Amino acid sequence: GNGARDRLRIAIQKSGRLAEPARALLNACGLSWRESRDRLFCYGESLPVDLLLVRDDDIPGLIRDGVCDLGVVGRNVLLEQDIALRSEGGTTAFREWRALGFGGCRLALAVPEGWAWQSPAQLGSTRIATSYPAILRQWLDGQGIAAEVVELSGSVEIAPRLGQADAICDLVSSGATLAANQLKPVMTLLESEAVLAGPAAENFGQLWDDARGELAELLLRRLDGVLRMRHSKLLMFQASREAIPSLLPLLPDAEAPTVMQVDGGDALALQALCHGAVTWQRLEELKRAGARGLLVLPVEGMLA
Ligand code: ATP
Ligand code: MG
Repeated sequence: GNGARDRLRIAIQKSGRLAEPARALLNACGLSWRESRDRLFCYGESLPVDLLLVRDDDIPGLIRDGVCDLGVVGRNVLLEQDIALRSEGGTTAFREWRALGFGGCRLALAVPEGWAWQSPAQLGSTRIATSYPAILRQWLDGQGIAAEVVELSGSVEIAPRLGQADAICDLVSSGATLAANQLKPVMTLLESEAVLAGPAAENFGQLWDDARGELAELLLRRLDGVLRMRHSKLLMFQASREAIPSLLPLLPDAEAPTVMQVDGGDALALQALCHGAVTWQRLEELKRAGARGLLVLPVEGMLA
């Protein structure tokens, strides 16, 4: 590290797929910033948590060098650099502190549509183009396959048509790019999403004995609240006492519902925090089971 610091520094992607969702998520954790003129640095205003805006490939290295304390980066990039470092004799430098639920994609092996795919053994003595040579090499070694890894920094999907490779290993989300290049995915090597990355440790106290430890813990607590409430809804309705036994099984994901007596009648008012999707279908089932005046409310904040 760079000695004691009283501000936490987080690296995020400057522009690209993860840039906006990363800022929005940190913003939902109560962070706000003043941007520098060159748009490379954001000075934390609500809390001493600053952002460094960089290329996503640079994030693991910035963490390793102690320039940044944490980062938001795809699991694919973090794992690639981690394996590469370890293959050079290093120890695991990084840890995924949280999976963040956006930037979902998979690292897949794809072959020309004309191939009759049976098993990975078919890849023996082929050339496979990828921007993820370390992950691919580790997977091939694990399968005992001797294939040549052709490292390309971009446009991997056209490599077979250009005669540079026989197959590819690339990130896929919808599969449209593969199809447009007459390729089909046959194996998934990694399920990826954006993660909060940091140095490997049990807890933040082990990493920093200055203000950063407590700031990182505060951030993680808020992050857990935000991630949980993204999928949570507060459900409110009324029902008669007799309907309760058939209503509760329809709320398996709810925390113990609050049941209140409504003045002067046999009706009860229920309030339940649901952590699963509250769909129209579910509301209709609740209604059939005797719920009345159903209200679904978004949750703005949560502190367990
Ligand atoms: P930078 O200029 O920061 O290096 P980049 O071109 O490397 O940008 P993006 O294309 O913005 O990066 O992708 C960033 C991350 O988004 C990927 O590493 C991956 O984790 C995730 N991602 C999600 N879906 C896809 C997809 N379909 N293709 C590529 N990456 C995806
Ligand atoms: Mg990149």
